[in-house]
Amino acid sequence: MSGHGHFRKRIIEMGFIKGVKVQSILNAPLNDPIKYRIMNFEVSLRRADASKVEIVTLQEAKEWERQKTVGSGEGKGLWGDQPPLPADDKRSAVDRLVENKTHTINVALVGNPNCGKTSIFNIAANAHERVGNYSGVTVDEKVGTFQYGGYTFNLIDLPGTYSLSAYSPEELYVRKHIIETPPDIILNVVDGTNLERNLYLTTQLIDMDLTIVMALNMSDELKKSGDKLDIEQLSTLLGIPIVPTTGRNGQGIGTLFDTIIDVFEGRERHVRHIHVNHGKLLEQRIGRMRTELYNHGFSDELSTRFLSIKLLENDSQMIDYVEKKDDDGSINRLREEISDEYQKHTGEDIESAVTDAKYGFIRGALAEVYEANEQRRNHVLTDKLDAVVTHRWLGYPIFLVFMFLTFFCTFALGNYPMEWIDMLFSWIGDLVGRHMAEGPLRSLLVDGVISGVGSVIVFLPNILILYLFISFMEDSGYMARAAFIMDKLMHKMGLHGKSFIPMIMGFGCNVPAIMATRTIEDRKSRLLTMLVIPMMSCSARIPTYMIIIGAFFSRHAALILTGLYAVGMVMAVLMAKLFSRRVVKGEALPFVMELPPYRLPTMRSVLRHTWEKGKEYLKKMGTIILGAAVIVWALGYFPHHDDYASAGGQLEQSYLGRIGKGVEPVMRPCGFDWRQSVSLLAGTAAKEVVASTMGVLYASEEGDTATLEDDDAIRISQLVRGHMTPLSAASMLIFVLLYMPCISTIIAIKNESGKWRWALLTVLYTTVLAWVASTGFYQIAMLLTP
Ligand code: GDP
Ligand code: MG
Repeated sequence: MSGHGHFRKRIIEMGFIKGVKVQSILNAPLNDPIKYRIMNFEVSLRRADASKVEIVTLQEAKEWERQKTVGSGEGKGLWGDQPPLPADDKRSAVDRLVENKTHTINVALVGNPNCGKTSIFNIAANAHERVGNYSGVTVDEKVGTFQYGGYTFNLIDLPGTYSLSAYSPEELYVRKHIIETPPDIILNVVDGTNLERNLYLTTQLIDMDLTIVMALNMSDELKKSGDKLDIEQLSTLLGIPIVPTTGRNGQGIGTLFDTIIDVFEGRERHVRHIHVNHGKLLEQRIGRMRTELYNHGFSDELSTRFLSIKLLENDSQMIDYVEKKDDDGSINRLREEISDEYQKHTGEDIESAVTDAKYGFIRGALAEVYEANEQRRNHVLTDKLDAVVTHRWLGYPIFLVFMFLTFFCTFALGNYPMEWIDMLFSWIGDLVGRHMAEGPLRSLLVDGVISGVGSVIVFLPNILILYLFISFMEDSGYMARAAFIMDKLMHKMGLHGKSFIPMIMGFGCNVPAIMATRTIEDRKSRLLTMLVIPMMSCSARIPTYMIIIGAFFSRHAALILTGLYAVGMVMAVLMAKLFSRRVVKGEALPFVMELPPYRLPTMRSVLRHTWEKGKEYLKKMGTIILGAAVIVWALGYFPHHDDYASAGGQLEQSYLGRIGKGVEPVMRPCGFDWRQSVSLLAGTAAKEVVASTMGVLYASEEGDTATLEDDDAIRISQLVRGHMTPLSAASMLIFVLLYMPCISTIIAIKNESGKWRWALLTVLYTTVLAWVASTGFYQIAMLLTP
């Protein structure tokens, strides 16, 4: 059977395996499709597809039966160790004929110029093609046929090429050959002394979803160089069996063809189709293109992933190729639209982005399996930086310095603009308070909207600064290195190095962090990462921390904030470990962590990323948080009685007070009163609402709204001081850090994991954990303090 990978797989799944008897039962008018009976069920195949299935007719079989001889299939006997077929072969002649027909393996040699393709071809086919130490020796394909291991091999030596783009005649030629006469197996010959460049072609072959076996040629040179390569691990990462060879003397070539047979027969355990990850931005667009191609009926002949990538790269040949099925021109339109939009979004064209991504993939793979000899190390800037940044020991302190800088700037620098916004909001509140008549409307505006939204919006600068740092680390390529050095550590808790970036992003907001887990190819690691992301303290929790710390612990602010983030991370680690043992079953598959080239991010792109996040935050202010503040205010204002002795009495009698009192018994062991309970309950809408609710609650409590003189946040801190003890405040910090994530996060977990089950598990475990931790802390602290 010949044909492209997809087709072959599908056809085999249908039951067209060798040796099975097939009956043609219907030739449709115009001969298309053809219906077959196979293994007692009927299948119809398009004629074009059917032609790829090799079938012997009954006539042929009878002819064969008469001859009663079976060709041993042994030809030149180059390796001469193949036993001839046993004489007392009891199988029917038909079986043997089928066997013989399907024992032909078409192999195409693909590789860079000068990697040794022709040398391997000559040894295998016992031919005498010219080999030469310059490129362009093989200008045309050479075909050789030989027998080995009971199989007939048709070996094709294709011209050397660095890539499968459509730039040089060789590239076009090789690509055309692979697409139009797809071989059973691609023998990718790779120069082992020049892996980075040679593997580039391999990544394109992977995109095409071909069945590949790799000859790691020049293995004699590789050995001599003193470089170390973990072939087994590279094989696992790429999903391609790799056999070391030496084209000069034929070493390893027997094993190479044994491996080809194993792959052909589907019994090679390294074979696995992987995706070369092109990064979030590109993958999204590749996905869109692919859907469009599917909708136009592309799926069989050529991998739609490869086709999508090539189309987005503006490959003129592939643009022509799809034209015939693109009757309404929509594929072309989408291609142009994505291409323009990408250019505008990143200031870079897709073609170079794809190249960068592929080299990032290769660099990442090699970083894991390859160790260059000390003296031969390349001295490009990226290599030099990587040598330091991903150094076995230096890597960690460098990372810690980065994180410290991030949080220091977030909280220390953010304080200045925070005070300005604070002043602005107090001034507005003051103004409204002074110029409006006493009554529900004034209370709604001052105590509800301005206090609620104001107590949260002041933290916008902190959040923007945090995002500025995260964007910078992502865009510069540093984040990928951080993930790389964390890989070992992450493995210990059942996660993957790639879990690290989403987790750091979780410090900003859990929702995009959960979406970012898409880069984790392995299902188990991905699910685990999603489950523990809520432990990463998102920026929406910052307002609550700041209010409470401002009220009670302002002298140790830095220490306590650091402690909170650390507790969150430790909890994430513990929970991941627990879940990987108990809840999420399965073995984690290894995959490549891309190391994209370092790049000084442009001011524009960092600022834009930061602003996109900031916009989200502001949008949340205008919707969820404003809404929640109004609801909380209303629940606190009604039922309204002027004769309640004080505002405090009013609040206690209100719906809000009643809800709080209802929840209070459950929360009392944590040290919370009904106000804290209500704030936490309201915070499930969005974590900022904890702070805004405290703003509304304590502002109403104060009663006399006409004397709003202090800054909002500071004033609320002062009010909070009157209602909590330092212990219950600390307990509240722990609870806010750990308890159930906001509704948007819960929905994101459901969408990304595909099951409500995981979202519910998250709600449950976080809340239980928060309650236990806060109660434990509060009760023990109470015992210890006299
Ligand atoms: P092609 O361009 O890929 O067909 O490469 P060739 O087969 O023409 O080989 C290029 C050069 O590399 C020739 O000089 C070969 O003798 C040499 N060569 C091929 N394989 C090996 C090998 O495994 N080790 C070494 N040291 N040289 C090799
Ligand atoms: Mg050659």
